[in-house]
Amino acid sequence: MVSPSAWDRRPSHCPICELYPSAVYPKGEECEYPPSKDGRSAAWRTTHEEKRVLDKANEEMWSDFRQAAEAHRQVRNYINTWIKPGMTMINICERLEDCSRRLIKENGLKAGLAFPTGCSINHVAAHYTPNAGDPTVLQYNDVCKIDFGTHINGRIIDCAFTVTFNPKYDRLLEAVRDATNTGIREGEVYAIETFGSTGRGAVHGDMDCSHYMKNFNVGHVPIRLPRAKHLLNVINENFGTLAFCRRWLDRQGESKYLMALKNLCDLGIIDPYPPLCDTKGSYTAQYEHTILLRPTCKEVVSRGDDY
Ligand code: MN
Repeated sequence: MVSPSAWDRRPSHCPICELYPSAVYPKGEECEYPPSKDGRSAAWRTTHEEKRVLDKANEEMWSDFRQAAEAHRQVRNYINTWIKPGMTMINICERLEDCSRRLIKENGLKAGLAFPTGCSINHVAAHYTPNAGDPTVLQYNDVCKIDFGTHINGRIIDCAFTVTFNPKYDRLLEAVRDATNTGIREGEVYAIETFGSTGRGAVHGDMDCSHYMKNFNVGHVPIRLPRAKHLLNVINENFGTLAFCRRWLDRQGESKYLMALKNLCDLGIIDPYPPLCDTKGSYTAQYEHTILLRPTCKEVVSRGDDY
């Protein structure tokens, strides 16, 4: 067997499963659970035989998360080498998503992108990704939250960071990064995303919607419009109950689907997730990690040396 050349193995190019042929993926940061209310340490969990057996029994699941997390780390390292003011948001998202699809080795619903690439800017806190034709260009003074997800077998890594170019935002970012790490230390949480804002800290839905997801509590609903029926089939096949955006319908070859999409939303089959905005003129920042609550310890599986 010929081993992959250095060129094939360069980051941003090689699928993670091929970088780790033994399928043993790097662990995240393992932390002890917080002490109980009476002050007893949770260190016993690490060595407790029953907990260790239970942990081992779920090894396949932890491994899926770790593979998706390694893809996330490598994708974000790659983005940080080229993201610059002057680029369009569409260009940024497409380049990120191309890399992410490659590293996760996209394969139907078994491996892929877990949700649309959030790139919300300034007072927009979350759920913005450009739709086709969006001319928005990243600016030197922008505060851009890159929130993207990878998954293996539906085990989702949801992890986000903030990109800025003007050093005047350094303290805002530092505060939010610290807050996220504090949150990770204090509770038994499975995913923590902290937002810091110079605005009011309250958000409302605003602007053009780009994010959508099936409502998995809804049972069978009869659909009259043939185009809506067709669109739902496309959504079921490609995204299942994972979130998607309009650009991802476009790349499946769908067009003129806005009425059908609205119909599915009106029927309650699909929920729209419009951008969440603070007050105009404010700046929001975000850091987010995914945490595995293992029987023995908690693992900040998406931890990297960047954040
Ligand atoms: Mn997120």
